[in-house]
Amino acid sequence: MKKVNPFSERITAWYDLHGRKTLPWQINKTPYRVWISEIMLQQTQVATVIPYYEKFMHSFPSIEALANASEDDVLHHWTGLGYYARARNLHKAAKTICEQHDGLFPESIDEVIALPGIGRSTAGAILSLSLGQHHSILDGNVKRVLARHGAIEGWPGQKAVEQQLWQLTDLLTPQQDVVKFNQAMMDIGSGVCTRSKPNCAQCPVAIDCKAQLAGRQKDFPGKKPKKATPAKEAWMLVLHRNGEVILNKRPPAGIWGGLWCFPQFDSEDALQEHINDAGISDETNIDKPEWLAGFRHTFSHFHLDIQPILINLADKQELAQIDSSVMEQNQTLWYNIHHPAKVGLAAATERILSNLAALLAADPVKESL
Ligand code: SF4
Repeated sequence: MKKVNPFSERITAWYDLHGRKTLPWQINKTPYRVWISEIMLQQTQVATVIPYYEKFMHSFPSIEALANASEDDVLHHWTGLGYYARARNLHKAAKTICEQHDGLFPESIDEVIALPGIGRSTAGAILSLSLGQHHSILDGNVKRVLARHGAIEGWPGQKAVEQQLWQLTDLLTPQQDVVKFNQAMMDIGSGVCTRSKPNCAQCPVAIDCKAQLAGRQKDFPGKKPKKATPAKEAWMLVLHRNGEVILNKRPPAGIWGGLWCFPQFDSEDALQEHINDAGISDETNIDKPEWLAGFRHTFSHFHLDIQPILINLADKQELAQIDSSVMEQNQTLWYNIHHPAKVGLAAATERILSNLAALLAADPVKESL
């Protein structure tokens, strides 16, 4: 007799009626296409991902094309999506696949998990959605549905809670229709069982959802124990001349790794010292430093309060002095605001550039400096 699994049957029946079937990565499915989508969809909404995905696949239509691209080009395609480690890992993994798997995406879960930036859930999603292999998944959306449906107490970041959720998803994922089931769980998590306003009236598993029955949807999943987020300061030097600014490339590790940023200092004194060391001062025919609008950029574990300082360079004599002081490791470029180079920009760089462009448009004298 066929074993009945009411939970999975209700989920797959819901998928037939309401699930998403025409997203770009659901057409001509291959492990490569699904892999890119899964990585982009981590931390980012579908609507935001679609144009990035289309452009990325157009530029890098194959694993080989991605592996052969420069890191700057890959990061350039990621500019605006955030969490740039995702892009760096994609690039590294593409190279690994070319070196170790003849350019073919591996089809065993252990080999996929061994690639940079791919955990158990993402590996399961890629192999199940693209090849129909039987693997369960547990991304943030699925965790929320399962934690609420089963009223699983505790924060899923804790090992024991996560293990409990893995056991549950392993148990509920059906042998048949794994593609529909996994896709439906992600769709329900993102569109029905949403973080702040779960739409239980439209949910296929509401009838036996413990959180819904108890009116405790907001209690699940359990929250991460709160710690005060520390704040740091950064002073960014915006050296401008005639529509161009100096940017430095960050080292590969650390925040904004591999991205292009304005020269950054921990204090106003350190920035001032740098200006003095470089021979940039009021006497050398350069405009006085000007404070641009400051802002806060929030990372996952700290806030960075950023104060950009603008210096308009007057002529090429000063430029030579600054070149020798700032261009330390051949990782510096003059970035033209009107004809941007194809490089990956940190979010803070983009914001300062946009403010600067507005300032220059309002003050054509500065633009011509
Ligand atoms: S019934 Fe409501 S809380 Fe429960 S899984 Fe469905 S949407 Fe989420």
